[in-house]
Amino acid sequence: MEDSIFLSKRDLPARWYNIQADLAKPVPPALHPGTGKPATAEDFSLIFPDPLIEQEVSTQRWIDIPEEVKNIYSLWRPTPLIRARKLEKFLNTPARIFYKDESVSAAGSHKPNTAVPQAYYNKISGTRRLTTETGAGQWGCALAFASNFFGLECEVYMVRVSYDQKPYRRSLMHIWNAKVFPSPSKQTACGRALLEKDPDCPGSLGMAISEAVEEAVANADTKYALGSVLNHVLMHQTVVGLETRRQLESIGAKPDIMIGCVGGGSNFGGFIFPFVFGPENEKRDIRFIATEPTACPTLTKGPYRYDFGDTAKMTPLIKMFTLGHNFVPPCIHAGGLRYHGMAPLVSYLQNEGIIEPRSYGQNSVFEAALTFARTEGRIPAPETSHAIRAAIDEAIRCREEKQEKNIVLNFSGHGFFDLASYDKYLAGQLDDYEYPEDRIQESLRELPEVGE
Ligand SMILES: *Cc1c(COP(=O)(O)O)cnc(C)c1O
Repeated sequence: MEDSIFLSKRDLPARWYNIQADLAKPVPPALHPGTGKPATAEDFSLIFPDPLIEQEVSTQRWIDIPEEVKNIYSLWRPTPLIRARKLEKFLNTPARIFYKDESVSAAGSHKPNTAVPQAYYNKISGTRRLTTETGAGQWGCALAFASNFFGLECEVYMVRVSYDQKPYRRSLMHIWNAKVFPSPSKQTACGRALLEKDPDCPGSLGMAISEAVEEAVANADTKYALGSVLNHVLMHQTVVGLETRRQLESIGAKPDIMIGCVGGGSNFGGFIFPFVFGPENEKRDIRFIATEPTACPTLTKGPYRYDFGDTAKMTPLIKMFTLGHNFVPPCIHAGGLRYHGMAPLVSYLQNEGIIEPRSYGQNSVFEAALTFARTEGRIPAPETSHAIRAAIDEAIRCREEKQEKNIVLNFSGHGFFDLASYDKYLAGQLDDYEYPEDRIQESLRELPEVGE
């Protein structure tokens, strides 16, 4: 069996898969933040272009990928699916471990899969400037990369702790012509209000979203782009799962366990959605494992409730697993997993018992990352390493139970900009952080009383 399964350019998916077509019940609608009534297309049109609003609520199963988008995708797609044979050998497991390598994009993660179509649909809808937030910097890089192809201006509000910790992500954004502000910033009214309360505020994704949305609402030629959570974002990411499916088919393999890390849920959703109701899962026997940090345990500790996507309560209310819109997670190194909420579509599957959530502390995650780097050679992003931790644990279980299973994980990004975190781990200076239960309860008391 070949260890790297490549597809040819001809095999680039022609359509995205929309899982909303196959759900038994519709996902609960987004609600207007002021009235608590279902949000209308007009509510969204202040911040998103029409084609993306249509995709957000569409129940059409397949949506064509525009030629212009495929053309840019083909710079790095299809991405390889790689058998981690050296890791298997090291673990002495009968399981087969595969990883889908999304780190090969220019921005180093899966995020350009949605940044490119979002920039494209904005361009054809007359948008001149895009605003967004970024946590660890990956999304900001992806949107800067995509905006640059279409001649759109791009403004990024970067969570302050990452702005300081990850200067090179900032450099990438500058190279691709974006403007970058540490958030909370003085650019916006909500940023200034936050700084007044706490001049040393480390920032959070919720705060940065408020700033980016404020800018988009205030300017007619400016729209906002979100890198995760929303239905259309997860749909764009299904290119990952669709390719994986073809690649496994090409070697006659069926996945038994599929694993991804979850921040807002986009790489995990895009990876598993084509399989959830797919023919290879007729018996509903594929296990889907979603991994998150103990420092931001949205799926493992949060309730399924309506909540705001941001701190300033400007976004629509969405029904999701949440730790509360005022939740500020500790400054762990997996910056991309520090979001308080979870994609409504991933939340829906979790509520139906279709996925298994799991949380890990930083040290066990970095231990897995080093095992991977020292066997397979690749250096994973700290976010991705949460998925690797679970894959290693499952492979060890296969060894103990003498079971040959196919474990497939989504390698969401590389860790080349996270080397300072690796240094800290190697020096024994990483803290494990379990978010205290009473602090979670405190944050949850501020959830809005709407919906059911
Ligand atoms: C952003 C990011 C994540 C988390 O975001 P999701 O929307 O949950 O996928 C995970 N891994 C990497 C490498 C990222 O850049």
